[in-house]
Amino acid sequence: MITETFRILEVNLSSGRSTIRSIPGVATYLGGSGLAAKLHLDYAKPELAWDDPAQPLIFTIGPLTGYFPLMSKTVCAFTSPLHGQYAESHAGGRSALALRFAGLDALVIIGRSERPTVLHLGANIIEFMDAGYLWGKDALATGKLLRSILKGSGHRTIMRIGAAGENKSAMACINVDTYRHFGRLGGGGVMGAKHLKAIVVEGNNSLDQPEGKQYPALYKDIFRRLTDTDMMRKYHNLGTASNLEALNELKALPWRNLQATSDPGIEGITGERFADDTLLRNAACAGCPVGCIHIGFVREKFHRDNRYVYRQVGYDYEPIFATGSMLGLTQAPQVLTVMDEVEKAGLDVMSGGVALAWATEALEKGVVTTEQTGIDLRFGEVQGYLKAVHMLAGAENEFWKILAAGTMAAANHYGGADFACVLGQEMAGYATGEVFYVAQSLGLRHSHLDTGAYTYDQSNAPKDVDKALAFLLEDERDRVILTSMVACLFARKVYDPETLRQCLTVLGGSELADNLDEAGTFLQKLRWQARAAGGFDPMTVKIPKRFMEVSTWKGQADPEYLENLRLAYAKAIIEMSRGEDKN
Ligand code: SF4
Repeated sequence: MITETFRILEVNLSSGRSTIRSIPGVATYLGGSGLAAKLHLDYAKPELAWDDPAQPLIFTIGPLTGYFPLMSKTVCAFTSPLHGQYAESHAGGRSALALRFAGLDALVIIGRSERPTVLHLGANIIEFMDAGYLWGKDALATGKLLRSILKGSGHRTIMRIGAAGENKSAMACINVDTYRHFGRLGGGGVMGAKHLKAIVVEGNNSLDQPEGKQYPALYKDIFRRLTDTDMMRKYHNLGTASNLEALNELKALPWRNLQATSDPGIEGITGERFADDTLLRNAACAGCPVGCIHIGFVREKFHRDNRYVYRQVGYDYEPIFATGSMLGLTQAPQVLTVMDEVEKAGLDVMSGGVALAWATEALEKGVVTTEQTGIDLRFGEVQGYLKAVHMLAGAENEFWKILAAGTMAAANHYGGADFACVLGQEMAGYATGEVFYVAQSLGLRHSHLDTGAYTYDQSNAPKDVDKALAFLLEDERDRVILTSMVACLFARKVYDPETLRQCLTVLGGSELADNLDEAGTFLQKLRWQARAAGGFDPMTVKIPKRFMEVSTWKGQADPEYLENLRLAYAKAIIEMSRGEDKN
């Protein structure tokens, strides 16, 4: 139950030492995002390179993890290979419950192993396993092998990397329990730099439950509200893939490196098409009754004996945009085969897909040559992409090595920055308009989930900079509270501030409950301070020309509105990073 101090395991891979630390301030930092920013400020060395052994890799959970449904995320914080500054990536699976049942609020990993290593830990275990035999294995095979070697059960999580991580790519993800990922900003590259192939956490302890009738009654009520809404039914039935058709109709779905925002080829990659032709089953993060994870199949032929095997691939809106419409692929089974290769390679699917889309247009325009890429890529032709995924993850030659550092890094080197679909990092699948372009470019995680800007655009709000800025700042602050609680954002309507207060109070955290609003304001600034400590200057952020050229459902973006909003948000970020009040 809620205490006044965080229990943190610090592991030093260089020395092989581990220490349990007790850090006060639960009512101030809450957990999740807030605790991650605090720990990064404590541990990170802004004067050193992102891959210096001294830089930390941090995992945090929240005060409600293990007690309430959909408090399922873990926040992973690190110094990003993409921009050398504070970064957060969020993922579910079994990671959060495993940490909770291992008795930890956070795990901080520093140092670098001499040899490839698997870190295996639990409530009463800490072991460094030689992983030389796993180095070079793909992320899926690594998970399978570790499951067979470490015969655990219950709340166990296996977080691992593939070739992209081993090669320290800025697009490398950390695969979590096969179907979830710390996707963005290169967390997998940080594990690779530490020679850490995998982290296995055994949640092998028990958890005290609150006494009395209040807790079970509140749990039951929240469970009912989570499972009895149209929104949750939508996430379970077709999943986020149902948004593909809607965004295509709205002229907001990026196609072929955002050369278009709508295409009749959508018929082959709608949520219904994936469900009808490929869906095998639903899956869920640990303890989640919704089960939004959709798992389709790809068929693979074994040439030796002409047998077919079926491989399971998780899909969602974002991976379908990145490996489907963005690459001009319009057949669901083909899109899943590319996703499957991306999974094996341990690439972030959004960054990888957008990078390959840029490379395709760069080849089309003669900005780069097939001599440089070593392969020809064409929109709509799947075979090239199946190979290029591994060339990118493996940093196969100079071109792929430069691209692995980020699409804009490659565009700055070769040319083609105007059509690099980069908004802070490779874009997410929403060409909805000015507010989203500014929000992803400047947002703390450069994530479509930093705020609901794409929904704001779709509301067709008037072009009012003050109103849009107020929305961005308020929504960011509200989400900081949720991500510090580590709530799945699909549950954001259920976990309103009053419900969060009730949850905290029933677990003995009335000080947190009383301090929730102040904590949100404080943590919003703290995260920007963590980002600024690495040298982030929001004034220098640019939005590439492609976003001005493409026509969305509202026509082309209004350059004046976009620029004024960009400057206003950048100014607000600078003020927040100085600790000044913006809300
Ligand atoms: S709704 Fe989906 S992402 Fe959220 S906790 Fe449940 S299964 Fe995980």
